Amino acid sequence: MSTPQLERLREHCHQLRLYQIENELTARLEQAAKKEVSYADFLDELLATEVGAKTHKHHQMRMAMARFPFQKTFETFDFKFQPSIDPKLIRELATGRYMESGDNVLFLGPPGVGKSHLAVALGMKACEQGIRTLFVTATALITTLGKALAEGRLEERIKLLTQPQLLIIDEIGYLPIDRQGANLFFQLVSRRYERGSIIITSDQSLGAWGEVFGDTVIASAILDRLLHHSITINIKGESFRLKEKLKAGLLNKTKLEDQPTT
Ligand code: ADP
Ligand code: MG
Repeated sequence: MSTPQLERLREHCHQLRLYQIENELTARLEQAAKKEVSYADFLDELLATEVGAKTHKHHQMRMAMARFPFQKTFETFDFKFQPSIDPKLIRELATGRYMESGDNVLFLGPPGVGKSHLAVALGMKACEQGIRTLFVTATALITTLGKALAEGRLEERIKLLTQPQLLIIDEIGYLPIDRQGANLFFQLVSRRYERGSIIITSDQSLGAWGEVFGDTVIASAILDRLLHHSITINIKGESFRLKEKLKAGLLNKTKLEDQPTT
């Protein structure tokens, strides 16, 4: 093939933002000539290369935007260790169907039982499915909202937090939330209500949320919206962290048995 034609082809690819094809064009043309593939097969493979590269890039972008604190998957979750979790229900959640109707998911249970692991695994699945996702801790979220309120940019911040189709709020109840924080949290939950799913993890039972939010009225208003369309997964069991320590011989068995399993 003449060099000017190859140059022109590359230029067209560039203008059309078909960067992967642009990179691979020469090699692909040579391969096709050698293997004598049909026009349709050639085009098929070429376009698949571009689609593959774009899908990969978008996935990487969504993963970066999600700001996961770590990466965890369902494949590395030991369901046998936590029999109170129904693997079928988790498999259903992994399909992402719950997000179509804006349903929320709540993971409740004591520390170390895998709440954050499962929340991140669901978030990573969502990213794979092309869903815009954001992970925040409850403490960071409330600090951000408080700061935005003080700077007169609350509306803007709430809009930003409403954009991702999936918002993961980790560790509700880990630290108490003051009245202003509770109010801001309520505003966010109301804005996302029936629009975008929220995944929440909490080591406090829902009955204790009145104390977490320092106000039973606000707590029940928040729960009313969160629970209307929701799936709650109560994890009862031992901490995986303690099991690991026990295995490593850092703790003795009595200590593990002393752990509360609410
Ligand atoms: P929680 O959020 O409930 O406090 P995490 O999800 O942070 O607990 O789990 C603590 C650690 O133990 C993490 O490293 C997590 O990956 C791991 N873990 C918890 N449960 C399991 C499990 N059933 N199988 C594999 N790893 C687990
Ligand atoms: Mg956690």
